[in-house]
Amino acid sequence: MSEVNPYQSLRKQIDEAASYLDVSEGQIERLKTPERVLETNLSVEMDDGTIEVFRAYRSQFNGDRGPYKGGIRYHPQVSRDEVKALSGWMVYKTATSAIPLGGGKGGIIIDPSEYSEAELERITRAFAKELTPMIGVDRDVPAPDVNTGQREMNWIKDTYETIENTTEPGVITGKDISSGGSEGRVEATGRSTVVAAREAFDYLDKDVDGATVAVQGYGNAGWIAAKLISEMGANVVAVSDSSGGIYAEDAFDPVAVKDFKRETGSVSDYPDADRELTNDELLTLDVDLLIPAALENAIDEQLAHEISADVISEAANGPITPNADDVLRDEDVLVIPDILANAGGVIVSYFEWVQNRQRFYWSEERVNEELDETIVNQFWNLIEAYEDRDLPSLRIAAYVVSLQRVLDAGEQAGTWP
Ligand code: NAD
Repeated sequence: MSEVNPYQSLRKQIDEAASYLDVSEGQIERLKTPERVLETNLSVEMDDGTIEVFRAYRSQFNGDRGPYKGGIRYHPQVSRDEVKALSGWMVYKTATSAIPLGGGKGGIIIDPSEYSEAELERITRAFAKELTPMIGVDRDVPAPDVNTGQREMNWIKDTYETIENTTEPGVITGKDISSGGSEGRVEATGRSTVVAAREAFDYLDKDVDGATVAVQGYGNAGWIAAKLISEMGANVVAVSDSSGGIYAEDAFDPVAVKDFKRETGSVSDYPDADRELTNDELLTLDVDLLIPAALENAIDEQLAHEISADVISEAANGPITPNADDVLRDEDVLVIPDILANAGGVIVSYFEWVQNRQRFYWSEERVNEELDETIVNQFWNLIEAYEDRDLPSLRIAAYVVSLQRVLDAGEQAGTWP
């Protein structure tokens, strides 16, 4: 299923969106190709005194709208093409959210579970040394991704600041609050998912109050989405994790389910559930809103025929396969695409960067309000493009709108020399 080369998929998506725009071949090629890719080999001393070499990448895809922005992942399957594709998708995510940043992504080919903390620190600092000439608060701002978090971000920031003899917390986002991180970052992804869903309900003239909701995946994105939609008056009737799902006709208390998962490691066997469900059963429940918040490709073509939800808000990245997307489109399921629905993380990263630059920190309330406003504005921009241009889906609308924004920025700048 995931044998498809991600970079080729990205190029295809851009071609599809570009077919709705008046744009030359040369411009499209420019928007399908990264501006530069660093490929480096890190020689690092292990705890036993031996040397190991790690291949690492940083792709700066497009900076027409602002400094490159995107995470750094540590995974054995990192590849040059994967990093290029992920950096391209960041361009379209930042442009869909209308935040003044470009797209970048980086990674090291490594299984971090096989290394000690001291080794991981030396590996991260070796990568940070290579990255230092190309990153910076106005150049390229990395963030956490798969298998990296606040710890790695703090090491990168410290290495950069030491080499550059400066203090520049905005060189990286996803930091701990004590090192310049933002309030509201932990809840941001789940929050954007439900704010976008709330607006979609408004568009369809449906009430969130009393609506039924199923959430696949009960990690950071999924459980926060369940909590926030429940606070808006909706009934979360089904949730799941990798151990399976649970159903309650009268709705769950998401916080109690989270506490149970924290104690037992899973949502299965939750005492107040009416019955257990498989993940496929959860995805095909007759609910008003479905929130896939686990893995990519969770909904394939076959499952798409059985989907009964009216609205899907994609908390996960790529939870619907392209063929499944076509089926859902034909069956009038309103899908809010990941590049808007889960953009809360990168939007609050942008707020973190703004606060770092101003050296003035916002309350959680202000962060949440600004995030809400950003999602509301951009959701209705997509609806406008979807209706006015008669586009097939909100996903295509998101690509068309964001591509146009990147094109406009590039055109204003012109080419040089
Ligand atoms: P997480 O690791 O905290 O949670 C993932 C959850 O999915 C866990 O509850 C896990 O048990 C469950 N899961 C795994 N396999 C499953 C399966 N086969 N069926 C059902 N559930 C399964 O991860 P997260 O941070 O919540 O991220 C979830 C998704 O959201 C990913 O696609 C991620 O890329 C995307 N996302 C997250 C953020 C963020 O800020 N956390 C931002 C953007 C996108």
